[in-house]
Amino acid sequence: MKINIAQLAEGHHHLDLRGQPASVGLDDGERFRDEISVALELEKMRTRLYIRLEAHTQAHYVCDRCLEPFVAAIAEKFSFLYTEDSDLISPDDFIYAYDASRPEIDIAPAVKETILLGVPIKFLCSEECKGLCPQCGTNLNQSRCACKTSSTDPRWDALKKLIK
Ligand SMILES: [Zn+2]
Ligand SMILES: [Zn+2]
Repeated sequence: MKINIAQLAEGHHHLDLRGQPASVGLDDGERFRDEISVALELEKMRTRLYIRLEAHTQAHYVCDRCLEPFVAAIAEKFSFLYTEDSDLISPDDFIYAYDASRPEIDIAPAVKETILLGVPIKFLCSEECKGLCPQCGTNLNQSRCACKTSSTDPRWDALKKLIK
C-alpha cells in the first residue's frame, strides 16, 4: 500500500485508501481476509512526513470459550513519523525512514501495525459467552446438557439429605 508523495504539495492532506490484507503484509488468509480501508491525515514537510492513520477492517477469530468462529470489526487509529533523520528512525517506536527524493512511500508497515493494535488479547464471541460444558463439550450458548455441574457447594450436601 503506497502513497505517491512526489505530487503532494507541502502541508496537510487527507487521503482514503483501500486494499486487500496482502497489500499490507497481513496475508494469512485466516484472521485477515476482508478489505482494509485506511483514512490518512498527513502533513508533508521537506524532510519528514507525519501520518495519522485510521484503519478499518474485520477480523475472523475463534472464541476462546466456545471455540466457535466469529467476526469482529477493527477500527484503530495511530500516528507515525517518517523522517530523513537516520538517528531518529526506530520502527519499534513507529518512526520510519523517509526519502523525500523517492516518488512514493510504502505505508504497509504502518497500516499493519495499526490493525494489529486492534486485535484483542482475549477472543470472546460475546462477553456473555457460556462456553462449552467441561464434561460433554456441548456448546452451552446453543443448548443445555444433562451433565451435573459440580459447582454446588459441598457444604449443602448434608442439608439436602435433611430436606429429603
Ligand atoms: Zn463463544
Ligand atoms: Zn455437559
